[in-house]
Amino acid sequence: MPMTAIFSVKECRLCPRQCGVDRTKGETGVCGAGAEVRVAKSMLHKWEEPCISGTDPARGSGAVFFTHCSLGCIYCQNRSISRRNSEKGEIYSAEALADLFLDLQEQGAWNINLVSPTHYAPQIREAVKSAKEKGLVLPIVWNTGGYECAEVIENLGDTVDIFLTDWKYNDPKTAEAYSSAPDYPERIAKAYGAMYRVTGKTVIDENGMLKKGIILRHLLLPGCRRDSIAVLDKAASIVPPENVLLSLMRQYTPEFLPETAPKSLQRRITSFEYDSVTDHAANLGFAGYTQESTSATSDYTPEF
Ligand code: SF4
Repeated sequence: MPMTAIFSVKECRLCPRQCGVDRTKGETGVCGAGAEVRVAKSMLHKWEEPCISGTDPARGSGAVFFTHCSLGCIYCQNRSISRRNSEKGEIYSAEALADLFLDLQEQGAWNINLVSPTHYAPQIREAVKSAKEKGLVLPIVWNTGGYECAEVIENLGDTVDIFLTDWKYNDPKTAEAYSSAPDYPERIAKAYGAMYRVTGKTVIDENGMLKKGIILRHLLLPGCRRDSIAVLDKAASIVPPENVLLSLMRQYTPEFLPETAPKSLQRRITSFEYDSVTDHAANLGFAGYTQESTSATSDYTPEF
């Protein structure tokens, strides 16, 4: 498919939902995004992984949180901005977005961290290109839930330096139950290989900051220990574990669940669940980040 057709909101197929709607005519697909970019919040984010946020209290990751998301996970911590009917945030033209990136650079950001960018990929590419022409030198982070089309990822080489990607499930039934996306495991497996072809191995600079590469994030969910292990096995079969950083997250909290959520999700994960997945990751050769049990709180979720 020609690149112009891939990066189009006219017959939108930017994510695996493949809606085919014409967002320029006011039509919306599963994500609810229109033709124009909506930014819910921008900030110097202090709580991403240390190689993304750094440790200098005056600095942080230049996070830009986009409104809407194509996944719609039942346990989403950012539901006030991610849902299809959300109207939070302001409209940004590509030029205004470029200026926002430059403003974050001016404030001391280590990188530009695009949070849930997939449904705005064409506008973001244009904004990054323009910002670079105006002096942006920071690495660009594609911070994604992992529900991506490999052919879109494959063509982001001119835009993205770092993929900070979730890999949520290996089991299609769990992916359907919690994210209405039974094809998630198949899609992320293909996209993950594409991400590696774009960035190659991790490159860390003299300040300990990530310049290039992949951070593979996995949030453990209650009762899903075996699926977590299957995720790690699958990821390790696609990219050598030593060539990426793994971030194993234990911050799952049921606080954000709607009343209709399944009972299985209404608890935090246990130390047994977390420790056994951590051990498995180490045995596979992954290195990276783990979290304390005290991270399972809403305190680290930005307010929108
Ligand atoms: S980005 Fe939105 S409209 Fe486009 S295919 Fe995905 S869900 Fe559908």
